[in-house]
Amino acid sequence: MDFKEKIRSIKDYPKEGITFRDITTLLKDGEAFREAIDAMKDLVKDEAIDKVVGIEARGFILGAPLAYDLGVGFVPIRKPGKLPADTHSAEYELEYGSDTVEMHVDAIEKGEKVLIVDDLLATGGTGSAAVEICKNAGADVIGCLVLIELDGLNGRDKMPVPVYSLMEFP
Ligand code: 5GP
Repeated sequence: MDFKEKIRSIKDYPKEGITFRDITTLLKDGEAFREAIDAMKDLVKDEAIDKVVGIEARGFILGAPLAYDLGVGFVPIRKPGKLPADTHSAEYELEYGSDTVEMHVDAIEKGEKVLIVDDLLATGGTGSAAVEICKNAGADVIGCLVLIELDGLNGRDKMPVPVYSLMEFP
């Protein structure tokens, strides 16, 4: 299947000069959604994985079925103030200012092999923060798996772990 055909590109969203890659057009197509999850799983078939860590919010949509299929636990990384128990946090830079992500301190056991999942890798800021938070929890981060990689932004070079992507856009 040509997965790229299933992605809708929206010019000047959320602001002028940005082309947003909208994955909802893939998600609403049952066959495409299932095949995309299967293909993402195939990209990491040689890796031992103890847990899947999904990044809010679209990383949940892709990470949860992957974890279910692999038969491993799912851990959410969320925006500040959303998780009810004690959390680790990591900050990352945005174009203007910074943002923070959080994860429960008891979500991962030391030495567990975790796979981080998100919908898209752009600059790598979000993914790097996710890696940091998992490493602080003592995890062995085996990689970051995304549906889409924006290869013009070189986010992959910023990532301290291998990046697996199903498709690339400029
Ligand atoms: P980064 O931190 O790598 O610059 O940006 C990646 C994060 O921003 C991801 O969590 C992703 O959900 C979101 N994001 C940025 N641009 C897009 C886009 O064009 N499409 C989608 N679906 N998400 C995006």
